[in-house]
Amino acid sequence: MEIIDAHCHLDFEAFDTDRSAVMSRASEAGIEKIVVPGVSAENWPRIHALCSQDSRLHACYGLHPYLTEKHSDQDIDTLSNWLDSHESVAIGECGLDYRKGQPPKQKQLHFFEAQLRIATDCDLPVVIHSVKATEDVIQTVSKFNSIRGMVHSYSGSYEQALQLIDLGFYISIGGQITYDKARKLRATASDIPLQSMLLETDAPDQPDAEHVNQRNEPAYIVNVLDALVDLRDETKEEIAEQTTANAKALFKI
Ligand SMILES: [Zn+2]
Repeated sequence: MEIIDAHCHLDFEAFDTDRSAVMSRASEAGIEKIVVPGVSAENWPRIHALCSQDSRLHACYGLHPYLTEKHSDQDIDTLSNWLDSHESVAIGECGLDYRKGQPPKQKQLHFFEAQLRIATDCDLPVVIHSVKATEDVIQTVSKFNSIRGMVHSYSGSYEQALQLIDLGFYISIGGQITYDKARKLRATASDIPLQSMLLETDAPDQPDAEHVNQRNEPAYIVNVLDALVDLRDETKEEIAEQTTANAKALFKI
């Protein structure tokens, strides 16, 4: 059984002391490939270095909405240039986060749209972070023709998921699905077509219910898979096989 972790911040400091052990456990768990998203211009060189030395890792470069106050317009130019000489399977992560305390919406939208433009120009998919902002994400991506990508750690409604799928997006499911209280997400994940689903951990963040308050890691993706087996009609092998095929098709890996 081959699994792809479609979203994991393996470059983060949280893995500095035991990254190779984390990767061994990932391989033992059946993880064939991991997509590592960028969050700011500062971390792109680190991601590039990491992904260049391990063929299981695939880099993305982008500007995360959390860090909007840190980004500058210069970073947008740097991103365009960076892609000329650094292999990237997608642009991201980028997107919108409308939780309290997050940067102003207009600024977030500015960087989000700029990255959607780059993705369109370079014909790359986008990795989208969307929290309490799914309506605006749908409206914003609708303005771009032939855009495609994934919405990571999906938290919108079932209806919005169908709209995103229609627009060319995959819905990525992570550890949140293992929590009984995540009723809306569990219902969505049981009903959306498997052909539009990806699996992810978002490690070191968003641990599953078995690892609450612990560092998350790619090997724990099997708990996401098990939760999906409970919710859906397909077997574990069928879910792994289809989501892996989906990730390969999206990222051309
Ligand atoms: Zn992330």
